[in-house]
Amino acid sequence: MPDSQGVDLDGLEQALEAEVDGEVRFDAGSRGAYATDGSNYRQVPIGVVVPRTVEAGAAAVAVCARFGAPVLSRGSGTSLGGQCTNEAVVIDWTKYCNRLVSVDPAARTCLVEPGIVLDELNRQLAPHKLKFGPKPSTHSHCALGGMIGNNSCGASAQAYGKTVDNVRRLEVLTYGGIRFWAGPTDQAKFEQIMAEGGGRARLYQGLKELVGRHLAGIRAGYPKIPRRVSGYNLDSLLPENGFDVARALVGSEGTLVTVLRAELELVEVPAAEALLVLGFDDIYQAADAVPELLEHSRPSQLEAIDGRMAQLMREEHAYLDSLDSLPEGDSWLLVQFTGDTKDEADAQAKELLRSLGREEGDPGVALSDDPPREQEMLKAREAGLGVTARPPDGSETWEGWEDSAVAPEKLGDYLRDLERLFDRYGYQQASLYGHFGQGCVHTRIPFELREGKGIEQFRGFLFDAADLVASYGGSLSGEHGDGQARGELLPRMFTPALTAAMEQMKALFDPDNRMNPGKVVHPHRVDNNLRLGPNWRPEPKQTHFAFADDGGDFGQAVLRCVGIGNCRTHQGGVMCPSYRATLEEKHSTRGRARLLFEMLGGHQDSPVTDGWRSTEVRDALDLCLACKGCKSDCPVGVDMATYKAEFLAHHYQGRLRPAAHYAMGWLPLWSQLARLAPALTNAALHAPGLARLGKRLAGIDPRRDAPLFADESFQETWRRLERPQPAPSDPRTVLLWPDTFTNHFHPHIADAAVRVLEDAGFRVAVPDGPVCCGLTWISTGQLATARRVLTRATAVLRPWLEAGTPIIGLEPSCTAVFRTDAPDLLAGDQDIVRLEAQMRTFAEQLVNHAPDGWQPPHVSRAATVQTHCHQHAVLGADPDRELMRRAGLKAEVLDEGCCGLAGNFGFEQGHYDLSQAIAEQGVLPAVRDTAPSAFVLADGFSCRTQIGQADTGRGALHLAEALALALDGPPPSDHPEKAAARPQLRAAASRLLTASLLGAVAGLVGGGFLVARHRHQIRKGWTR
Ligand SMILES: Cc1cc2nc3c(=O)[nH]c(=O)nc-3n(C[C@H](O)[C@H](O)[C@H](O)COP(=O)(O)OP(=O)(O)OC[C@H]3O[C@@H](n4cnc5c(N)ncnc54)[C@H](O)[C@@H]3O)c2cc1C
Ligand code: SF4
Ligand code: SF4
Repeated sequence: MPDSQGVDLDGLEQALEAEVDGEVRFDAGSRGAYATDGSNYRQVPIGVVVPRTVEAGAAAVAVCARFGAPVLSRGSGTSLGGQCTNEAVVIDWTKYCNRLVSVDPAARTCLVEPGIVLDELNRQLAPHKLKFGPKPSTHSHCALGGMIGNNSCGASAQAYGKTVDNVRRLEVLTYGGIRFWAGPTDQAKFEQIMAEGGGRARLYQGLKELVGRHLAGIRAGYPKIPRRVSGYNLDSLLPENGFDVARALVGSEGTLVTVLRAELELVEVPAAEALLVLGFDDIYQAADAVPELLEHSRPSQLEAIDGRMAQLMREEHAYLDSLDSLPEGDSWLLVQFTGDTKDEADAQAKELLRSLGREEGDPGVALSDDPPREQEMLKAREAGLGVTARPPDGSETWEGWEDSAVAPEKLGDYLRDLERLFDRYGYQQASLYGHFGQGCVHTRIPFELREGKGIEQFRGFLFDAADLVASYGGSLSGEHGDGQARGELLPRMFTPALTAAMEQMKALFDPDNRMNPGKVVHPHRVDNNLRLGPNWRPEPKQTHFAFADDGGDFGQAVLRCVGIGNCRTHQGGVMCPSYRATLEEKHSTRGRARLLFEMLGGHQDSPVTDGWRSTEVRDALDLCLACKGCKSDCPVGVDMATYKAEFLAHHYQGRLRPAAHYAMGWLPLWSQLARLAPALTNAALHAPGLARLGKRLAGIDPRRDAPLFADESFQETWRRLERPQPAPSDPRTVLLWPDTFTNHFHPHIADAAVRVLEDAGFRVAVPDGPVCCGLTWISTGQLATARRVLTRATAVLRPWLEAGTPIIGLEPSCTAVFRTDAPDLLAGDQDIVRLEAQMRTFAEQLVNHAPDGWQPPHVSRAATVQTHCHQHAVLGADPDRELMRRAGLKAEVLDEGCCGLAGNFGFEQGHYDLSQAIAEQGVLPAVRDTAPSAFVLADGFSCRTQIGQADTGRGALHLAEALALALDGPPPSDHPEKAAARPQLRAAASRLLTASLLGAVAGLVGGGFLVARHRHQIRKGWTR
């Protein structure tokens, strides 16, 4: 089947499958997931290849060349100019080709494959006290191939330059199959290459002639500023720059060659840092001050934040501590110094202050002596794009003119003119910040990209802005590259002769224009291939959730994802466990958001065509743990767990669901039924043979053990003991929420909580009927049932809701439902509003509401603490930290991500391996490393189950249990969890049950056999 570009797609796919050692995917799901990068542009790829080795990647290029198919290499796809989206075969280097091949510490160089992530590389280099100098804000997930493709840098460029300044050699492959190591080429080397002849010699000869023809033009036509990233690096081919073919190819954005390996130059990790922050009345005055600062000092970073960005951070409650540390002013310069010692770094900062005639005590000056705080403040600056992308007022801002650069001494004037240009176009309130020490300005602009007039304005603005920056002798891009966003504008910055020279360079390497076509040279128009555009017509979707923060519009919620790619980080926070364990784009939050975007049906060429019924979207969401990590960790608050629940509700509407949805989605109901005979239920669930059959029928992985029901639920015990029920109106009364997990499986946690709450002077009430938050129905997308369950619960709670009694949640996932899912599912229901306001965690109640003078029991022990994902994302863990501090617990709160079980997820068939892989990436090794005397604390039932079912030799307790143990004296010094009660399996009962059942089955089979034989004999006339 030929495509619009005349490529035989079927033949291409088959040949790639046959000849490439890798994953070859031409399916709709893969094509949808890779249709956009971090930019405003969207092009659906032909297919995706994920090579297992560098050689396989080279083989993929060769196959594509045979079929004439365009090729696009991809790192983490965080490009902002549209250079990482194309109607091409996408080669994703990040999953397998991500090795640090070798390090030479003496020479300070290393050899890498293109898919290695920058932070991962630097982690591996850390033992040598070395690192790769350039550091884009996306350092936690951008790949070296992408950095080389874009000539990336960041704040650290002040000290170390751009990627081009730190690349020694590149192994490259042209579309036509010429493969070679490129680097600086002196005359002897050049002659050797000529003598060897062949394709490489022809290329080098062509480049030599090209530079010769344009020598004067190249010398005069490239801006002499620190941040010129636009255009090909023809200047690296100048004789005075060593005819460096590797550096000439850096920044060519996959349009000239495929980079197979890179030899990088490394720098020493500085021993100490100091941060000086200076406040100014506005961002222009901050920019004006830069030349003087640079005259008197050599900072390692010189960054700027403006008042608008600070205001947005405040509104979004982000980086509040960092904002509090800023000195007086509306805009700030952050000046960092490095040295061999802290004193040496501080001395440079103080020397600068002296030169400026300012003092440490000035209200507009802050000199930090707290390294973690300094990192936080620089992180706040790094987070700029995320913070400004989706302001809380619901407006949208876009890239397009987000990284222009001029000489630092012209920055103030350029910014004033840029602001005037914003005014002329009516683009108000754009934040201005960035790498001011190098004259590079970041901003996102409220372009209107959904209708013709707005797009015409967008185009007009870009051309005017290009003329403006060119008039300052600056660069269209100072950091992110050209792609499609700047390609068409390059002639405004470079002379016609230089633009022609760049086209000639393209013709030498890629005469048929098959390498990332339409980007940098021979570009598409800046207003073509827009992600939205005037023809974007998504189908309106009726939803169960209100999506109030997105104007009630599911499409708008999906559009939150701006493609930053933080969900592809390898460490820290929770987002996104399924990506971390698979390294698969479609199993990242972004990949899922992209597929949901395609599902909205806004574009004619969307590969996803069947809306809510899409199996591609279902498969991408299948490995989403609904951990809600993205809700808190994604800078724009993409809440994939909610989108998944909404999708599942529609996908399975009127259809049979997977067995697990009935088995685990209805767990609260089954738990009620199990009360009739809990011991028998446990025996049946663990009876050899029978359990296996049951798990298969219930859609549960055979390697998972069903949790054990307690002999008596917490509510049953409460009733049996005839505990007095305090009046709802008594100010000391708290209502304990008997969530399904605590009530039926770990009731001792509720007992413990009651003891501690009573010790603090509270009087505990417990609802006498069954109540449920509906979590298991929500996570399986059975939303109508969830709504009914919630409504029933509020009816039971009504007396306490009306009295305003605090309601204490022990299980984080259930408690979080009342802060997020329930209000969104039952928007406007006043009982839910009350419930949300009255619900508190155990720690919140004790830390913020216990009577003055109450001290928690003293535990005086170390503890490894796993925070439940929903607590991390929704509830926050600060009160828990404070409670542990007051109790004398030396808590090591893990930053190791999700436990991998996440409610029903880890139990479901097909999820076990991923669930274990996630746990082994962080939580389980940390638990194994915990000292025998220390507690392992996990408030989440899932986390406790995951830890308990793994081979850690440890059991985890709820914080309430640790505190209750201490009420009776010092907890046991070895494995303190042994003192806590848990339901026990009566193995003999299980075996007996199996034996009885086997006996019964054998009896039935045997009986059946006798009856059958009897009938047979009658037919044969053997009996009379
Ligand atoms: C929030 C945000 C902040 C950012 N901050 C910065 C910043 O501070 N500094 C900065 O420089 N950039 C920044 N960027 C842009 C981008 O993140 C960087 O340029 C990053 O280095 C790109 O890496 P990547 O792996 O995502 O590359 P990709 O987007 O995957 O690719 C980049 C280019 O390289 C090409 N490429 C990838 N691999 C190869 C290969 N093997 N062979 C040939 N070509 C290849 C691609 O075709 C593409 O043209 C930012 C982007 C975002 C979204
Ligand atoms: S989901 Fe969030 S973190 Fe991931 S790419 Fe989208 S915006 Fe970025
Ligand atoms: S809910 Fe968790 S697993 Fe799902 S996309 Fe968000 S971070 Fe990833």
